[in-house]
Amino acid sequence: MIYDISMLIHKEMQTYKQNPDKSPKITVDSNHETGSAYESTITMNLHTGTHMDFPLHMIKDGDTSKTENLEPLLGEAKVFDMTHCDQFIGLEDLKGCNISKNDFVLFKTKNSYSDDFLMDFTYVNEAASQYLKDKQIRGVGTDALGIERAQKEHPTHKILLSHNIIIVEGLRLKEVKAGTYQMVFLPLKIYDVEALPLRAILIE
Ligand SMILES: [Zn+2]
Repeated sequence: MIYDISMLIHKEMQTYKQNPDKSPKITVDSNHETGSAYESTITMNLHTGTHMDFPLHMIKDGDTSKTENLEPLLGEAKVFDMTHCDQFIGLEDLKGCNISKNDFVLFKTKNSYSDDFLMDFTYVNEAASQYLKDKQIRGVGTDALGIERAQKEHPTHKILLSHNIIIVEGLRLKEVKAGTYQMVFLPLKIYDVEALPLRAILIE
């Protein structure tokens, strides 16, 4: 069974805080009336849709997609059902989870059940990110367009990104049950940016 857990990119899709500036704009450069081929251009904020963040996103002079390595984006992923968490995933919510070194953990929350942006989306709080850092996981994926909100100075992003833990945002996990899967996360090969759109697949 193959689960495509990427967000569909389209003009009316959800954007962070419903900001219209972050919506994808697709313009047709030429069509079969004006030219000999149909061609379009897309302009999109790199944090719209399913994507991974690089340290520069939250850390001045941080790394960018120059240093990207595919290895951590392939292999096993563990999906945890966190639909009981409302505002945030906290330390207590993680303590019962089987999380070990080098894991790639994906959190399924209420966010996966809404195609609209939820202003009160479930996020990963600072204490939980500290726990994930201490566990030395290789990556964490969330089904919100942000891994955190309502935390001054963005500690969740900073703790994870400063320890080379990959952050993937904007997953769609409604159809996926808790468990272990093979993951294939393939980011676009764009040089020297702070985030990359990616196609995310889980194989059962
Ligand atoms: Zn982002």
